[in-house]
Amino acid sequence: MKIGELIQSGDWKGEKHVPVIEAPEKVSAGELFDVTLSVGKEIAHPNTTEHHICWIKLYFKPEGDKFVYEVAELRFDGHGASVKGANEGPVFTDTFGTVRLKLAAAGTLIATSSCNIHGLWESSKPISVE
Ligand code: FE
Repeated sequence: MKIGELIQSGDWKGEKHVPVIEAPEKVSAGELFDVTLSVGKEIAHPNTTEHHICWIKLYFKPEGDKFVYEVAELRFDGHGASVKGANEGPVFTDTFGTVRLKLAAAGTLIATSSCNIHGLWESSKPISVE
C-alpha cells in the first residue's frame, strides 16, 4: 500500500473535497504572483466540530524534474469547539488562503487537502513561465 493510492481526486465543481488552485496560467520568471487555495468553492464543505477540512498543502513539481517541492501549508484549526460543547465555540476558520511565490521554471502546482472524516484529496494545475 502506498499513500498515493489513498489520495482521491475529482472535479472540484462536482466534488466538494477537491482543493481548488487559483493561479495564473502563465507567469514571468522570478516575479511574485498569488496562488489562492480553497475547498468548497462550488459546493460548500461542512465546517463543524465533527466534520471539517484540517489543512491544504501546496507543492511544486518542475517540468522534467524528478522531485516535488513543498511550497506552503495552510492549517484550519477553528471549527467551533468550545467548553460549551461542539459547534458552540466563537470561531470557525474558512477553508481559504493565499500564498505568494515566484518560479524560475515551468511546472505543475499540486495541492492536497485533508477532511477529518473523508481522507485525503488532491488536484493540480500546470503553470508556464516565460
Ligand atoms: Fe468531508
